Amino acid sequence: MISVRHLSVSYGRIAALQDASLDICAGEVSAVVGVNGAGKSSLVRAVLGLEAPTAGHITIDGTDTTVWPSHKPRSIGYVPEGRVLAGALTVAETLRLGAGRVARNHIATRTAGVLARFPELAKRLNQKAGTLSGGEATMLAVGRALMAAPRYLLLDEPTLGLSPAATDRVFGIIAELKKDGLGILLVEQNLHRAIAAADQHIVLRHGRIVPAGDITTIENTLLQGATS
Ligand code: ATP
Repeated sequence: MISVRHLSVSYGRIAALQDASLDICAGEVSAVVGVNGAGKSSLVRAVLGLEAPTAGHITIDGTDTTVWPSHKPRSIGYVPEGRVLAGALTVAETLRLGAGRVARNHIATRTAGVLARFPELAKRLNQKAGTLSGGEATMLAVGRALMAAPRYLLLDEPTLGLSPAATDRVFGIIAELKKDGLGILLVEQNLHRAIAAADQHIVLRHGRIVPAGDITTIENTLLQGATS
């Protein structure tokens, strides 16, 4: 389990996240919703060890990753906002990089697992990432993250700009990964889809987690966050 306790992240005088506490559990999807600037990416980046918190602690399977010396947790896969793929690399090269420094036989096994899950990638192993469709590129970004055999997966707005069909595919994959036991943190603008897919709803408003309630309450909270 990933436990986030009283976490705060600041950029100079900007308090992006304040006193946030939540758990990310194996086999569950936790959806993070909030308007632009609510602190969603700051939360994700802090859990990944990419932002140093100004207060609070993050414990990953019992290890506090916020105490010095900190390290990027290997058990967490990350699909960043906008996917962030190297366009000149092929699908095969991108997957290989995702595995990091592991033995050759692990790479072969993991690649086979990813390609079985994503037939659209299996057909395009020698295609450059920059020439993939939005949906294919998203699958590659998820596949790249899975190559490190993570126990947790953080997805930052994976359906942004995708067609309805590609969005369905992303949510289908999320459901599969949840079934396989991954703990998933999903930042998602599509409120209805996020709520339907998630076991836990985390609503951020001005950097603070506020009570979620039902979908109407969440919609009202987001509306207030957008206008204040
Ligand atoms: P979006 O949906 O637009 O991606 P978000 O909910 O992910 O927004 P964050 O990106 O976490 O929000 O940003 C939270 C606040 O912190 C915003 O006010 C943003 O301008 C500010 N912020 C984020 N990153 C930095 C940075 N590197 N330097 C200064 N301010 C930052």
